[in-house]
Amino acid sequence: MIALHNSELFQAAVSLLYPATCTICGKKVRAGEHLCSGCEAKIVRIVPPFCETCSEPFDGSITSAFTCANCAHRTIYFDAAVAAYRGRGIVREIIHQFKYARQIHLRHVIARWLRTALDDERLRDCQFDVIVPVPLHPARQRERGFNQASLLAELLSAQTSISCRPSLKRIRYTTTQTALDRSERMENLHNAFRLRKNADVRGLRVLLIDDVLTTGSTLSECARVLKRAGAKSVYAATAARA
Ligand SMILES: [Zn+2]
Ligand SMILES: [Zn+2]
Repeated sequence: MIALHNSELFQAAVSLLYPATCTICGKKVRAGEHLCSGCEAKIVRIVPPFCETCSEPFDGSITSAFTCANCAHRTIYFDAAVAAYRGRGIVREIIHQFKYARQIHLRHVIARWLRTALDDERLRDCQFDVIVPVPLHPARQRERGFNQASLLAELLSAQTSISCRPSLKRIRYTTTQTALDRSERMENLHNAFRLRKNADVRGLRVLLIDDVLTTGSTLSECARVLKRAGAKSVYAATAARA
């Protein structure tokens, strides 16, 4: 946490010395902004038709609600997972810089994207009692210096007044999921999460938060643990869908 605060101070000092510029194209932007309007205009919102359960966009002209083949053939434990933007191009680049290049200030951009997910009609009318970030394994968190989902969840909590409680912990250090197919991911994640000691989610309506949704396996595993612990409902929101 100390390293994080130092880097924040450093960023603040830098912004006094240098004018703010767009993270992507370098154009001048207003103080406190990280993307110019031109770059912001290029990001792609996920719009219908998409899978009602996992937000997988569907190219075609289906007008009624539907569930994709991936969701139809597995047990999904969350009620719905909403991703706001397509995780490619500028969105992918911003999230990458945030997570892997320690550009912590970019959390403000990503949290803003995440907030647009809350406008989705599957979430708009929901009441949530608690925001829960998807946890990282402690070893991974040490390596990265922070948990991206926690930083986003805390910002969202401050903006919505829904309390943020890190109720889950990751107990298995899983290998990177990127190269695995869907069933391998599920296997890899099995029993990867536990409820934290003293965490109590009984009867609560949970909003689960992560930066990116890939197959939904991670969110589903987290939702499984939360529901087994008595959560009344578990919806998930992410800024992007890979
Ligand atoms: Zn730009
Ligand atoms: Zn689906």
